[in-house]
Amino acid sequence: MSAEKTKAVRNIATKSKSKTKTNVFGNCAGIFVKIYHKACTVLFPSNIKCLICGDDLKQKQDIEICDKCRLKLREITESECCTRCGSPIAGQGKFCLNCQGGDVEFDIARSVFVYENEVKHLISGLKYNNKPYLSRTLSCFLAEKYKSLGWQADLIIPVPLSESRKKWRGYNQAALLAEGVSDIIGVPINTEALVKIKDTDTQASLTLAERRKNLKESFKVVDKYAVRGKKILLIDDVMTTGSTANACTHELKKAHADRVLVLTIAHGKPEIPTQSNINSAKNFTN
Ligand SMILES: [Zn+2]
Ligand SMILES: [Zn+2]
Repeated sequence: MSAEKTKAVRNIATKSKSKTKTNVFGNCAGIFVKIYHKACTVLFPSNIKCLICGDDLKQKQDIEICDKCRLKLREITESECCTRCGSPIAGQGKFCLNCQGGDVEFDIARSVFVYENEVKHLISGLKYNNKPYLSRTLSCFLAEKYKSLGWQADLIIPVPLSESRKKWRGYNQAALLAEGVSDIIGVPINTEALVKIKDTDTQASLTLAERRKNLKESFKVVDKYAVRGKKILLIDDVMTTGSTANACTHELKKAHADRVLVLTIAHGKPEIPTQSNINSAKNFTN
């Protein structure tokens, strides 16, 4: 090999070596930058905002709602609600008219908030505006309520959705809430034991008798051993007349569940959904 040729080969080798060195360094630097950014995001969150007003939160917190907005949410206290179904009935006696009628199958039900204003917007976001992340904060509210009530459940079951409704929404919002609660309180969850086998039509515009008829036999327990003898915590987003909770309870007790305790985010009469709710005027109690 001539001296010139040898020099050229050496040059190529040196260049290639330095290129390799640069790549290794570049990769390491890239990884380091990524780790640094990740650490900064965790340690110094700059984009955690109140889910209601959008203001920056001072620190990372489980309930992503600022103090000012939290004060606006009307919580239902034990002293103002129906002993059985938890509906707000301040000054009207121990039981609401619905429960006085004696048609209630679940053992007890409680809701965290009155279904109005900001609470309504949060639930609507979860159900109709494809914001499943809202369930994180809402689950924390449910877990707080559960702990304050001193309930001791063996198993958590979410109110199921029919397959078509689940496909349409992409998720079951009650299951997301139930999973969040299970993580916090450490009670196991079963999302498959109770299923919805029949699609129900629009519930909001129906009378109580029609709702009950409509919901009758729309739920089914497919794993009886999972619920037998258990104290079930049934979770849903909203309770209106209690027809859905009753229909689920009916099936759970038929499968020999010991007790059914119902917990929802809000209690109240929802409005009929509008067109803006993504043409979802189909089933508010789903
Ligand atoms: Zn706020
Ligand atoms: Zn009641």
